[in-house]
Amino acid sequence: MKSGDSNGWIADTILDTVPCGFLSFGDDGIVQAANAMLISLLQGEDGSPVGRHLEGFLTVASRIFYQTHLFPLLRVTGRADEIYLALRTGQGEEVPVLINGVRRERDGATVYDCILVPMRRRSQYEDEILRAKRGLEEANLAKEQYRRELEERNAQLEELREGLEVQVERRMAELRTAVADQEGFSYAIAHDLRSPLRAIVAASEILREEVGESLNAEHQALLARQAFNGLKMSSLIDDLLRFARLGRAGVVRETLDLSELAAKEFAALTLPAYPTPPDFRVQSGMTATGDRTLVRMVLRNLIQNAAKYSPDGGEIRIGWTEEKGRRVYFVRDQGIGFDMRHAGKIFRPFERLVDSDRFQGNGIGLATVQRIIDRHGGAVWFESELGKGSTFFFTLE
Ligand code: ADP
Repeated sequence: MKSGDSNGWIADTILDTVPCGFLSFGDDGIVQAANAMLISLLQGEDGSPVGRHLEGFLTVASRIFYQTHLFPLLRVTGRADEIYLALRTGQGEEVPVLINGVRRERDGATVYDCILVPMRRRSQYEDEILRAKRGLEEANLAKEQYRRELEERNAQLEELREGLEVQVERRMAELRTAVADQEGFSYAIAHDLRSPLRAIVAASEILREEVGESLNAEHQALLARQAFNGLKMSSLIDDLLRFARLGRAGVVRETLDLSELAAKEFAALTLPAYPTPPDFRVQSGMTATGDRTLVRMVLRNLIQNAAKYSPDGGEIRIGWTEEKGRRVYFVRDQGIGFDMRHAGKIFRPFERLVDSDRFQGNGIGLATVQRIIDRHGGAVWFESELGKGSTFFFTLE
């Protein structure tokens, strides 16, 4: 303890070892005593603040505060609690301290005894807490902003989705109307063409029967060609009508024995007059769920084609495999096959890859198959190789 007066050594020792600074100053502000902790806090070059004015080791702001607040408070009320000041050390560093002070009368004079608790740590903690708090606030702000942005985006997406739904619904309605119109149109045309055609065919029949004998060979052939083409057109119209009706028919699903249906269709088929008939085989126990009439039409068309396009016989095989959990049915032949490069159009009505003189047909069979499979929610596709044969695959759901 560096003090101007002479207290007992015990008090001095205690004051020097307590973990806070102590100083005593008079009315004139001159420091009369300071303990070791305060001296080490101040790191004064000349060792001790004793004998110097207190303001000499306060920062400018603290000096003003001392004059306007701490000192008047001590003098008037006799005590000051938790006054926050900043000391300035010999190295010019600032040390924040908390001061508690009391006024005393000692040896007939007024002195002010103060303890100073350094606040370096606390300020540091406070700074850290403040920083953390600010960080948290910023993070919360960012979070809030992000949430708002997300909400906005969701709202935009929702709007977009609703708009799209409306658009899709409108387009679907337009499409449904267009399809219905088209179906109605082809149905009406096909239907209205029938009676005049029947009249033409009937007329040529009558002519052939009644005056046919009197005609020369060339005219007889012309008449026969007229009747033949009339009948051909009539069958085309029937196919067209059937195809158009497909768009309207409802799909009634039931469990079907495809093996049995395929065998029946093959048996009912008028086989083309080829020298070697095909060897027809059906995998047994083949079941499916679908509309009986429509699925029969699928089988009929595929089996008919397999037979028609196998002029040299070979095997026609009908069976099924399982692919990715769904049943895939197939009709395979070893006939003429076709070049896969030109095959893109064979599901379109009236599209054929063969010569009509050699293979009769009107190109509506596969279009019918595709429409029926579509109506079942399935898929149809094929694999083929020119001269080796073809396989048509289909699913029904
Ligand atoms: P069509 O047999 O009356 O011509 P489809 O619509 O049934 O009509 O078939 C379209 C075309 O696809 C056929 O003209 C033919 O070129 C080809 N095609 C269909 N099935 C086979 C098959 N099994 N083998 C070879 N070609 C086929």
